[in-house]
Amino acid sequence: MAAPKYIFVVGGVMSGIGKGVATSSIGRILKSKGFKVTAIKIDPYINIDAGTMNPTVHGEVFVLDDGYETDQDMGNYERFLSETLPSINYMTTGRVYQEIIRKERNLEYKGNNVEVVPDVPLEVLRRIDEAQKAAQSEVTIIEIGGTIGEYQNIIFLEAARMLKNKNPRDVAVVMVSYVPIPHNIGEMKTKPTQYAARSLNSVGLQADIILARAAVPIDAKRKEKIGIFCNINPDHVISAPDVDSIYDVPLNYEKDGMGDILCDVLGLDKRPSNLKDWESFVTKTKNPQKEISIAVVGKYFMSGDYVLSDVYISVIEAMKHAGAAQDVKVKLAYLDSEVYEKDPAKLEELKQYQGILVPGGFGSRGVEGIIAAIRFARENKIPYFGLCYGMQLMVVEYARNVAKIPDAHTAEIKPDARNPVIHIMEHQKEKMEKADFGGTMRLGTYPCKLRHDTIAREAYGDVEEVQERHRHRYEVNLNAVIKLTEAGLKFSGTSPDHNLMEIAELPREAHPFMLGTQFHPEFLSRPLTPHPLFVAFLKACLPAGRPL
Ligand code: GLN
Repeated sequence: MAAPKYIFVVGGVMSGIGKGVATSSIGRILKSKGFKVTAIKIDPYINIDAGTMNPTVHGEVFVLDDGYETDQDMGNYERFLSETLPSINYMTTGRVYQEIIRKERNLEYKGNNVEVVPDVPLEVLRRIDEAQKAAQSEVTIIEIGGTIGEYQNIIFLEAARMLKNKNPRDVAVVMVSYVPIPHNIGEMKTKPTQYAARSLNSVGLQADIILARAAVPIDAKRKEKIGIFCNINPDHVISAPDVDSIYDVPLNYEKDGMGDILCDVLGLDKRPSNLKDWESFVTKTKNPQKEISIAVVGKYFMSGDYVLSDVYISVIEAMKHAGAAQDVKVKLAYLDSEVYEKDPAKLEELKQYQGILVPGGFGSRGVEGIIAAIRFARENKIPYFGLCYGMQLMVVEYARNVAKIPDAHTAEIKPDARNPVIHIMEHQKEKMEKADFGGTMRLGTYPCKLRHDTIAREAYGDVEEVQERHRHRYEVNLNAVIKLTEAGLKFSGTSPDHNLMEIAELPREAHPFMLGTQFHPEFLSRPLTPHPLFVAFLKACLPAGRPL
């Protein structure tokens, strides 16, 4: 194999302008040219992983196959690249230092001083190298979180500089910058980008490509200006206008020849891009035959005046993928479950929706409201899909209102409930007592056996066993299983030893679609391969699939 190539993606001017989608899109383009590609995310936090961060602060915690709890950008990479990424592809400042300190304690530095420079960037580069080798990638794309000029990400920029210095022809730097159009001026201003380019220069790096994020495509005049002031070829300034769908982004970049420019910069042979399958997916999302509305009932929605849909990004994307496959536009309404606690009459609003989904979650806020919404879905035969907490609370609702199990609850909320139909997993107890919270849930991929003649098994295409990703501490209490089953609930998926209930559903005769999974199917849905359970849920929500 020729020398591996590296692309560092850094942010200029401000955060939140889509470096993750830029990284993912570059990956998709290069993959479509036939290169073997992988992507790495660097988060400058001290946290070892994203698992201990509050989703309302940091967005969704994305779980990898191997159980690592990461930033939501890893989800974008997997979705855009159609690749399964391992934990070595995610690092934080904390993770890097943890490894350095471990090595120091084990005398692996052989008595030398361990210094912030170069030992920290060297550990960063060692991890990049390990990820590249694991993926056997021809091109490795590394997104450095944060913005240039911040103190936090300087060691990572230093790693990029060291690698570029060693292999000048094998490293490209892409700066994602923001080009504002102030209302009162009505003109695109490039000055912030010029300053960002200089800050990048001050750490010894020069952008090869600048992605000009702006409300509209950037014109030739501004390309010229950025070219002169930021010291790059104006053709290497790529338009990155706001888009309706993130899936448009690779197609937009290609309009400006992104793939070939990268090949030029890195000395890769120019091959044609083939984004046909991607394009047809995007076209399908744009011209749907039907439209339906799904209520997403949860608690993490509001932060001040803003709706935080980032917390559920994988669920939202999984719905888009399944929607494209069904030729339907899925409109999601985020409904705060606490409202139903204060005013149960409000539950009636749920009748406007073709389906109800309860995503994963933790803690007590809004739980009784969620349970009331689940009951409403069951009694009114509205298709229901529960993910993790959404499955556990579906079981609680059924236990209380159908199986008539007194004081049924999840032990997460009521540890002394007489009938904790959801209880803590045995091996989790000790961890909780020791306050050992980080990275200790039941995480990552586990097998799930599917029972014959169930909605779940049919949805998956009649396979015996599936692999799905998990993130939970609680589970269905085996002591409650017989009572629940007698009352009509079916556990259609279990761990191979039958000890863990992985999928619960109501038989079709009782309800058009009432199904919950202990795992998170949303983590495995991809644009070109939507998740079968999301597809089955949507089919049930479509008016023809739902007996009225
Ligand atoms: N809080 C529940 C548990 O820990 C569900 C977790 C989730 O929804 N991811 O088991």
